[in-house]
Amino acid sequence: ADVPNEAFVRFDSVQKSYDGETLVVKDLNLDIARGEFLTMLGPSGSGKTTCLMMLAGFETATHGEILLDGTPINNVPPHKRGIGMVFQNYALFPHMTVTENLAFPLEVRKTSRSEIDRKVKRALDMVEMGEFGNRRPAQLSGGQQQRIAVARALVFEPDLVLMDEPLGALDKQLREQMQYEIKRIHDSLGITVVYVTHDQTEALTMSDRIAVFNDGVIQQLATPEDLYERPESAFVAGFIGENN
Ligand code: ATP
Repeated sequence: ADVPNEAFVRFDSVQKSYDGETLVVKDLNLDIARGEFLTMLGPSGSGKTTCLMMLAGFETATHGEILLDGTPINNVPPHKRGIGMVFQNYALFPHMTVTENLAFPLEVRKTSRSEIDRKVKRALDMVEMGEFGNRRPAQLSGGQQQRIAVARALVFEPDLVLMDEPLGALDKQLREQMQYEIKRIHDSLGITVVYVTHDQTEALTMSDRIAVFNDGVIQQLATPEDLYERPESAFVAGFIGENN
Protein backbone atom coordinates (compact mmCIF):
# COMPACT_ATOMS: atom_id res chain seq x y z
CA ALA A 1 0.00 0.00 0.00
CA ASP A 2 3.03 2.28 0.38
CA VAL A 3 3.83 2.27 -3.32
CA PRO A 4 4.52 5.86 -4.38
CA ASN A 5 2.44 7.35 -7.19
CA GLU A 6 -0.22 4.74 -6.56
CA ALA A 7 -3.73 6.14 -6.90
CA PHE A 8 -5.56 6.32 -3.58
CA VAL A 9 -8.85 5.43 -5.29
CA ARG A 10 -8.85 3.53 -8.56
CA PHE A 11 -11.80 2.54 -10.74
CA ASP A 12 -10.37 -0.13 -13.03
CA SER A 13 -12.61 -0.91 -16.05
CA VAL A 14 -15.72 -0.66 -13.87
CA GLN A 15 -19.11 -1.39 -15.37
CA LYS A 16 -22.51 -1.45 -13.71
CA SER A 17 -25.84 -2.78 -14.87
CA TYR A 18 -28.89 -2.96 -12.62
CA ASP A 19 -31.02 -5.04 -15.00
CA GLY A 20 -28.35 -7.26 -16.55
CA GLU A 21 -28.83 -5.48 -19.86
CA THR A 22 -28.28 -1.71 -19.83
CA LEU A 23 -24.91 -0.43 -18.63
CA VAL A 24 -25.43 2.71 -16.52
CA VAL A 25 -21.64 2.87 -15.96
CA LYS A 26 -19.60 1.88 -19.01
CA ASP A 27 -15.97 0.86 -18.62
CA LEU A 28 -14.99 3.52 -16.12
CA ASN A 29 -11.28 4.15 -15.49
CA LEU A 30 -10.50 6.82 -12.93
CA ASP A 31 -7.57 7.43 -10.57
CA ILE A 32 -8.04 9.77 -7.62
CA ALA A 33 -4.95 10.99 -5.74
CA ARG A 34 -4.64 11.08 -1.96
CA GLY A 35 -5.77 14.47 -0.70
CA GLU A 36 -7.60 15.35 -3.89
CA PHE A 37 -11.05 16.98 -4.08
CA LEU A 38 -12.56 15.16 -7.07
CA THR A 39 -16.04 16.08 -8.27
CA MET A 40 -18.28 13.90 -10.39
CA LEU A 41 -20.41 16.36 -12.34
CA GLY A 42 -23.13 15.54 -14.83
CA PRO A 43 -26.83 15.53 -15.65
CA SER A 44 -29.39 13.42 -13.84
CA GLY A 45 -29.05 9.73 -14.63
CA SER A 46 -25.48 9.95 -15.93
CA GLY A 47 -24.17 7.42 -13.38
CA LYS A 48 -22.51 9.61 -10.73
CA THR A 49 -24.39 8.26 -7.72
CA THR A 50 -23.95 4.69 -8.93
CA CYS A 51 -20.17 5.24 -8.96
CA LEU A 52 -20.26 6.65 -5.43
CA MET A 53 -22.44 3.75 -4.22
CA MET A 54 -19.96 1.24 -5.64
CA LEU A 55 -17.09 3.06 -3.92
CA ALA A 56 -19.06 3.10 -0.65
CA GLY A 57 -19.85 -0.60 -1.05
CA PHE A 58 -23.64 -0.31 -1.27
CA GLU A 59 -23.62 -1.49 -4.89
CA THR A 60 -21.31 -4.03 -6.52
CA ALA A 61 -19.66 -3.57 -9.88
CA THR A 62 -20.94 -5.84 -12.64
CA HIS A 63 -17.44 -5.89 -14.11
CA GLY A 64 -14.03 -4.49 -13.14
CA GLU A 65 -12.47 -3.65 -9.80
CA ILE A 66 -12.32 -0.74 -7.38
CA LEU A 67 -9.07 -0.31 -5.42
CA LEU A 68 -8.55 1.70 -2.26
CA ASP A 69 -4.93 2.50 -1.46
CA GLY A 70 -3.89 -0.29 -3.82
CA THR A 71 -6.17 -2.93 -2.28
CA PRO A 72 -9.10 -4.41 -4.26
CA ILE A 73 -12.28 -3.72 -2.26
CA ASN A 74 -15.08 -5.27 -4.32
CA ASN A 75 -15.61 -7.85 -1.59
CA VAL A 76 -15.06 -5.56 1.42
CA PRO A 77 -18.35 -4.63 3.15
CA PRO A 78 -19.17 -0.90 3.53
CA HIS A 79 -18.44 -0.58 7.28
CA LYS A 80 -14.97 -2.10 6.81
CA ARG A 81 -13.92 0.40 4.14
CA GLY A 82 -13.35 3.23 6.65
CA ILE A 83 -15.08 5.77 4.41
CA GLY A 84 -17.06 8.76 5.73
CA MET A 85 -20.27 9.65 3.91
CA VAL A 86 -22.58 12.63 3.61
CA PHE A 87 -25.75 12.34 1.57
CA GLN A 88 -28.55 14.84 1.03
CA ASN A 89 -31.08 12.56 2.69
CA TYR A 90 -28.77 10.68 5.01
CA ALA A 91 -30.85 11.51 8.07
CA LEU A 92 -29.54 11.94 11.59
CA PHE A 93 -31.17 9.73 14.21
CA PRO A 94 -34.13 11.84 15.41
CA HIS A 95 -34.32 10.34 18.91
CA MET A 96 -30.65 11.04 19.68
CA THR A 97 -28.97 14.31 20.57
CA VAL A 98 -26.29 15.73 18.30
CA THR A 99 -23.60 14.36 20.60
CA GLU A 100 -25.20 10.91 20.62
CA ASN A 101 -25.49 10.99 16.81
CA LEU A 102 -21.77 11.67 16.53
CA ALA A 103 -20.78 9.17 19.21
CA PHE A 104 -22.68 6.37 17.48
CA PRO A 105 -20.16 5.61 14.67
CA LEU A 106 -17.40 5.57 17.31
CA GLU A 107 -19.30 3.27 19.67
CA VAL A 108 -19.78 0.87 16.78
CA ARG A 109 -15.99 0.92 16.41
CA LYS A 110 -15.51 0.16 20.11
CA THR A 111 -13.76 3.45 20.80
CA SER A 112 -13.13 4.26 24.50
CA ARG A 113 -15.38 6.78 26.26
CA SER A 114 -12.64 9.39 26.66
CA GLU A 115 -11.63 9.07 22.99
CA ILE A 116 -15.28 9.40 21.97
CA ASP A 117 -15.69 12.61 23.98
CA ARG A 118 -12.51 14.06 22.50
CA LYS A 119 -13.36 13.14 18.90
CA VAL A 120 -16.98 14.30 19.12
CA LYS A 121 -15.87 17.66 20.47
CA ARG A 122 -13.25 18.00 17.76
CA ALA A 123 -15.74 17.17 14.98
CA LEU A 124 -18.34 19.60 16.36
CA ASP A 125 -15.77 22.37 16.63
CA MET A 126 -14.69 21.68 13.07
CA VAL A 127 -18.17 22.60 11.77
CA GLU A 128 -18.56 25.34 14.38
CA MET A 129 -21.41 23.56 16.17
CA GLY A 130 -19.76 23.16 19.58
CA GLU A 131 -22.70 24.77 21.36
CA PHE A 132 -25.34 22.42 19.92
CA GLY A 133 -24.35 19.05 21.34
CA ASN A 134 -27.43 18.65 23.52
CA ARG A 135 -30.01 19.48 20.84
CA ARG A 136 -32.00 16.95 18.89
CA PRO A 137 -31.99 17.18 15.07
CA ALA A 138 -35.56 18.59 15.00
CA GLN A 139 -34.32 21.54 17.06
CA LEU A 140 -31.80 22.52 14.37
CA SER A 141 -32.18 24.35 11.04
CA GLY A 142 -31.61 22.48 7.78
CA GLY A 143 -28.16 24.00 7.41
CA GLN A 144 -27.21 23.10 10.96
CA GLN A 145 -28.41 19.53 10.45
CA GLN A 146 -26.25 19.30 7.33
CA ARG A 147 -23.25 20.55 9.29
CA ILE A 148 -23.85 17.82 11.85
CA ALA A 149 -24.04 15.29 9.01
CA VAL A 150 -20.62 16.54 7.84
CA ALA A 151 -19.28 16.29 11.40
CA ARG A 152 -20.61 12.73 11.68
CA ALA A 153 -18.80 11.75 8.47
CA LEU A 154 -15.55 13.16 9.88
CA VAL A 155 -15.82 11.96 13.46
CA PHE A 156 -13.91 8.70 13.00
CA GLU A 157 -11.21 10.56 11.08
CA PRO A 158 -11.53 8.78 7.73
CA ASP A 159 -8.98 9.33 4.95
CA LEU A 160 -11.78 9.35 2.36
CA VAL A 161 -15.14 11.13 2.49
CA LEU A 162 -17.90 10.71 -0.09
CA MET A 163 -20.51 13.42 -0.54
CA ASP A 164 -23.57 13.08 -2.77
CA GLU A 165 -25.37 16.38 -3.37
CA PRO A 166 -24.86 17.25 0.31
CA LEU A 167 -26.06 20.83 -0.16
CA GLY A 168 -28.95 20.15 -2.55
CA ALA A 169 -31.64 20.91 0.03
CA LEU A 170 -30.16 24.23 1.16
CA ASP A 171 -30.95 27.71 -0.14
CA LYS A 172 -28.39 29.54 -2.26
CA GLN A 173 -26.77 31.59 0.49
CA LEU A 174 -26.40 28.66 2.88
CA ARG A 175 -25.14 26.49 0.05
CA GLU A 176 -22.34 28.96 -0.73
CA GLN A 177 -21.38 29.19 2.92
CA MET A 178 -21.29 25.40 3.27
CA GLN A 179 -19.23 25.06 0.07
CA TYR A 180 -16.67 27.32 1.67
CA GLU A 181 -16.74 25.38 4.94
CA ILE A 182 -16.40 21.98 3.27
CA LYS A 183 -13.45 23.33 1.28
CA ARG A 184 -11.83 24.68 4.45
CA ILE A 185 -12.23 21.31 6.18
CA HIS A 186 -10.84 19.49 3.16
CA ASP A 187 -7.81 21.77 3.04
CA SER A 188 -7.10 21.67 6.76
CA LEU A 189 -7.49 17.89 7.21
CA GLY A 190 -5.86 16.87 3.93
CA ILE A 191 -8.58 14.25 3.39
CA THR A 192 -9.60 12.89 0.00
CA VAL A 193 -13.11 13.95 -1.04
CA VAL A 194 -15.22 12.48 -3.83
CA TYR A 195 -18.11 14.86 -4.38
CA VAL A 196 -21.19 14.37 -6.57
CA THR A 197 -23.19 17.29 -7.91
CA HIS A 198 -25.08 18.45 -10.98
CA ASP A 199 -24.28 22.08 -10.07
CA GLN A 200 -21.58 23.44 -12.39
CA THR A 201 -20.76 26.46 -10.23
CA GLU A 202 -20.35 24.28 -7.15
CA ALA A 203 -18.03 21.93 -9.03
CA LEU A 204 -15.96 24.75 -10.53
CA THR A 205 -15.54 26.48 -7.15
CA MET A 206 -14.65 23.51 -5.00
CA SER A 207 -12.76 20.92 -7.02
CA ASP A 208 -9.15 20.09 -7.75
CA ARG A 209 -10.41 18.08 -10.72
CA ILE A 210 -13.83 17.47 -12.23
CA ALA A 211 -14.99 14.32 -14.01
CA VAL A 212 -17.84 15.29 -16.34
CA PHE A 213 -20.23 12.36 -16.68
CA ASN A 214 -22.70 11.76 -19.47
CA ASP A 215 -24.58 8.55 -20.10
CA GLY A 216 -22.32 6.36 -17.95
CA VAL A 217 -19.08 7.68 -19.43
CA ILE A 218 -16.56 10.30 -18.30
CA GLN A 219 -16.60 12.85 -21.10
CA GLN A 220 -13.70 14.85 -19.73
CA LEU A 221 -11.51 14.77 -16.64
CA ALA A 222 -9.74 18.05 -15.98
CA THR A 223 -9.11 20.94 -13.61
CA PRO A 224 -11.88 23.55 -13.38
CA GLU A 225 -9.76 26.00 -15.40
CA ASP A 226 -9.11 23.52 -18.20
CA LEU A 227 -12.74 22.43 -18.36
CA TYR A 228 -13.93 25.99 -18.56
CA GLU A 229 -11.35 27.20 -21.06
CA ARG A 230 -10.69 24.04 -23.07
CA PRO A 231 -13.79 21.85 -23.19
CA GLU A 232 -13.08 18.84 -25.38
CA SER A 233 -16.59 18.28 -26.66
CA ALA A 234 -19.79 20.14 -27.43
CA PHE A 235 -21.45 18.29 -24.56
CA VAL A 236 -18.90 19.53 -22.01
CA ALA A 237 -18.94 23.09 -23.38
CA GLY A 238 -22.74 23.14 -23.26
CA PHE A 239 -23.04 21.56 -19.84
CA ILE A 240 -20.38 23.76 -18.21
CA GLY A 241 -21.88 26.85 -19.80
CA GLU A 242 -25.40 26.17 -18.52
CA ASN A 243 -26.73 28.14 -15.61
CA ASN A 244 -28.61 26.38 -12.84
P1 ATP B 1 -28.89 11.94 -10.28
O1 ATP B 1 -28.10 13.21 -10.35
O2 ATP B 1 -30.29 12.11 -10.76
O3 ATP B 1 -28.79 11.23 -8.96
P2 ATP B 1 -26.85 10.21 -11.35
O4 ATP B 1 -25.97 10.78 -12.37
O5 ATP B 1 -26.36 10.13 -9.97
O6 ATP B 1 -28.24 10.97 -11.37
P3 ATP B 1 -27.48 7.42 -11.10
O7 ATP B 1 -28.32 7.68 -9.90
O8 ATP B 1 -26.19 6.76 -10.90
O9 ATP B 1 -27.23 8.78 -11.89
O10 ATP B 1 -28.34 6.61 -12.15
C1 ATP B 1 -27.83 6.11 -13.37
C2 ATP B 1 -28.87 5.24 -14.03
O11 ATP B 1 -29.08 4.07 -13.25
C3 ATP B 1 -30.24 5.90 -14.15
O12 ATP B 1 -30.78 5.54 -15.41
C4 ATP B 1 -31.04 5.29 -13.03
O13 ATP B 1 -32.39 5.23 -13.36
C5 ATP B 1 -30.43 3.91 -12.90
N1 ATP B 1 -30.48 3.41 -11.51
C6 ATP B 1 -29.93 4.00 -10.43
N2 ATP B 1 -30.11 3.26 -9.32
C7 ATP B 1 -30.82 2.17 -9.70
C8 ATP B 1 -31.33 1.01 -9.01
N3 ATP B 1 -31.14 0.85 -7.70
N4 ATP B 1 -32.02 0.11 -9.73
C9 ATP B 1 -32.20 0.27 -11.06
N5 ATP B 1 -31.75 1.32 -11.76
C10 ATP B 1 -31.06 2.27 -11.11
